[in-house]
Amino acid sequence: MSDSECLFCRIERGEIDAEIVYQNDLLIAFRDIHPQAPTHILIIPRKHISTINDLQDEDAAIVGALFLAAKELAVSEGLLESGYRVAMNCGEGAGQSVFHIHLHMLGGRAFSWPPG
Ligand code: 5GP
Repeated sequence: MSDSECLFCRIERGEIDAEIVYQNDLLIAFRDIHPQAPTHILIIPRKHISTINDLQDEDAAIVGALFLAAKELAVSEGLLESGYRVAMNCGEGAGQSVFHIHLHMLGGRAFSWPPG
């Protein structure tokens, strides 16, 4: 379930500090160390899953929980009216740098499309 070397598994186990803003039995959410917007939160499953490509049918509840957490955080971060963006990179070519799936939640500024 947990990878001894994985950065986000280490945060989940409390071995590395992070500002945790939400958690439940399936996931934790903490502020990104290099925020790209006034609100930049990473929502990660407690279970180690490297990329979207590694998801199994049994992980459906986890994926759903990531989005439900984003909705809760939109309330607590005051983003319901202004809007916010959620994104997950898959693979180095798409910009993934930590290989433990995570939903980026960004808000508090205007966003353009398409992303860079
Ligand atoms: P990715 O590039 O994989 O989509 O996103 C990884 C994110 O993790 C980046 O936005 C990066 O700033 C963030 N990050 C990397 N190391 C740490 C860390 O030690 N603590 C926290 N809170 N965020 C981190």
